[in-house]
Amino acid sequence: MRNARALIIGGGIGGLTAALALQQKGIAVSVYEAVAKLGEVGAGVTITPNSCHVLNHLLGEDVVASICHVPVSGAIKHYLTGETLIDTRRGDGPKLQYGANYCQVHRADLHETLAAAVRANDPDCLHVAHRFVGLEETATGITASFANGATASGDVLLGCDGIRSAVRRQLWGDEEIKFTGFVAFRGLVPTDRLAPEFLEPDSAAFAGRGHTFTRYKVRHGELYNFVAFTRRDEWAAEGWSEPGELDEMLAEFHDFAPEVQAIMRAVPPDQLYKWGLFDRPPLDRWTKGRATLLGDAAHPMTPFLAQGAAMAIEDGLIMARALEAADDWQEALERYEAARYERGTFVMCESHVNAERIYKRDPDKIDRKTHRNAESLGLYDYNPVTVEI
Ligand SMILES: Cc1cc2nc3c(=O)[nH]c(=O)nc-3n(C[C@H](O)[C@H](O)[C@H](O)COP(=O)(O)OP(=O)(O)OC[C@H]3O[C@@H](n4cnc5c(N)ncnc54)[C@H](O)[C@@H]3O)c2cc1C
Repeated sequence: MRNARALIIGGGIGGLTAALALQQKGIAVSVYEAVAKLGEVGAGVTITPNSCHVLNHLLGEDVVASICHVPVSGAIKHYLTGETLIDTRRGDGPKLQYGANYCQVHRADLHETLAAAVRANDPDCLHVAHRFVGLEETATGITASFANGATASGDVLLGCDGIRSAVRRQLWGDEEIKFTGFVAFRGLVPTDRLAPEFLEPDSAAFAGRGHTFTRYKVRHGELYNFVAFTRRDEWAAEGWSEPGELDEMLAEFHDFAPEVQAIMRAVPPDQLYKWGLFDRPPLDRWTKGRATLLGDAAHPMTPFLAQGAAMAIEDGLIMARALEAADDWQEALERYEAARYERGTFVMCESHVNAERIYKRDPDKIDRKTHRNAESLGLYDYNPVTVEI
């Protein structure tokens, strides 16, 4: 269905991946983003082999290599002693095993690279300051309306507008967005602020009791991205991200190893954020008429398998492949949902299981046999470029 026109609501990692994938199949696409300036928060994101296949396919391996850092050495460490509990060395191992790298990237670098590629294909594709507010189906298409009074029409509409998706609300009504009880402090630290002994291994996760601290390198080792997870009874802030308080974070992680303390103390104040983690129940289905959901709008998940962006990236390419393969829009959306629903919902549910496992685990009893992650669940075995749809 190469002569289709797709409307994409939301210019995050999922929306831009879908836009680029559709463009490369020759499908006309326009992206409508609510905020006035396209961008991403200052944080890192792990790209596992299953989603790296897509980025390699869409951007080219050289471009992916230019923005991503491949961690050579890695460890899960005891929070108190810093002792290595599990060696998670990666390097070129994932590429040899799965055909694509396990790597880490600054979210803004990935987002900017995707946006530049989309604009290079079509300078008029991205429309900022277009907050989606409603949709209407006609006999011949679907029309989206925006808070600024504009409208746009196409053959299909893809809701890529994140966990608080307005498209999802339009299609499936209002349902509760629940605070998970997890809060993440996130920061970016210039690595030249740290003593050399704190720069090894490339990536490390410190397992504590009800607390976890993860850090890895982005921008080719210039910056450390860290995420420090803790629990709260409630999240009172209006938004789901707000500036973090260093003292509050240090008090919560006061018994963590000196390396953790040093990284926390080195974070520039304007680079420290606190995120409440929210979720929603799985939907029975995503597609209604000519509209469907993609990324967090379809399957928001906790970050405990590091797969939220990965699933959005996978969705984007499969959507393009479904549109290319189908004779009409119904077949395209059916193929997309048939290919993606089970995997997206499984990963979403498993991310919750893993959240509880991580929260309840005893750091004195961690070993490779009981360790669970996206790889042990078999998620890296999936290649969205070649999987049958
Ligand atoms: C602490 C933390 C760590 C994480 N780490 C990882 C990781 O290591 N690996 C990984 O794979 N994932 C990770 N994730 C998950 C990942 O960030 C998300 O799953 C991913 O960003 C989802 O992308 P998306 O494009 O679907 O949604 P979003 O990134 O939320 O993008 C949605 C876009 O839609 C726009 N929008 C919203 N409403 C409207 C509207 N009405 N009209 C128009 N536009 C609208 C928004 O402005 C935004 O640009 C992490 C998440 C958290 C919270």
